[in-house]
Amino acid sequence: MKVRSFDQDKAILYLVGTPIGNLEDMTFRAIKILKSVDKIYAEDTRTSGVLLKYYDIHTKVESYHEFNQDLKSEQILNELKSGCKLALISDAGLPVISDPGYKLVSLAIENHIAVSTIPGASAGISALIASGLAPMPYTFFGFLDSKTTKRIKQLEEIKYNPHTIIFYEAPHRIEKTLEDMRFVLGNRRIVLARELTKTFEEFARGTIEEILLELPLKGEMVLLVEGYQEQEEVSNPFLKIDELISLGYKPNEAIKEIARQTQMNRNELYKSYINFKNEK
Ligand code: SAM
Repeated sequence: MKVRSFDQDKAILYLVGTPIGNLEDMTFRAIKILKSVDKIYAEDTRTSGVLLKYYDIHTKVESYHEFNQDLKSEQILNELKSGCKLALISDAGLPVISDPGYKLVSLAIENHIAVSTIPGASAGISALIASGLAPMPYTFFGFLDSKTTKRIKQLEEIKYNPHTIIFYEAPHRIEKTLEDMRFVLGNRRIVLARELTKTFEEFARGTIEEILLELPLKGEMVLLVEGYQEQEEVSNPFLKIDELISLGYKPNEAIKEIARQTQMNRNELYKSYINFKNEK
């Protein structure tokens, strides 16, 4: 079914991109739309208040976030059904991308209401183009699970994905995430893009092991990981263990040797190796 976005006097939900750090990364059109709509729904009204004040936007603002989206989606849908023009923004970047909005977009579409995109910055794609890793094809993953077992499982699932993969990560979890990645994916090339568009923007490029040595690194960060390469098997610690065993090493000796070579914890390597063998 076709829905035209810009039929005069018809309801519309605009998804408006806002800056990811530098307030000046706002489009003329985004400002115009935010000034003209009946209401803006924002993830955090105080955070967005700074932006709206900067651009002298006085439109009414209400909250729409992870914890009230079930309740608010119905309210917003009713407003749209009554002909309102509304805008959704998040704290930074594009709404819906690792931010609330998907539910609302689906509801609006089910009800044949126009949904339109007002493009702007997004951290993942902004990081990708300056990373130096293959820009295409890419996979956008967003945040990995915060629980180790789930995170490892998610990494196992994408282990053989040949695309550059874009992750969002919090600074307090980056070390653990990189260790899990080294373990599951091997010592791949990565790029940590921090504080994009802000004064202390920085790109750390290297292998996982090299970047681990640079930690702690603070601030908002996008983590880009090179896709699976065929020759990677050689650097997979489990396959190295198998290789040593085939050369006559006892399993314990082989694990000890690879733990030494990769500076991994011997017991952890042992446990993961057993899991790896059981899964095969
Ligand atoms: N909707 C946003 C977008 O389009 O990029 C993403 C929102 S998500 C809740 C927030 C995460 O995006 C941060 O934890 C970080 O991983 C990434 N991020 C946002 N702004 C960033 C920046 N200026 N530099 C680096 N990463 C950023």
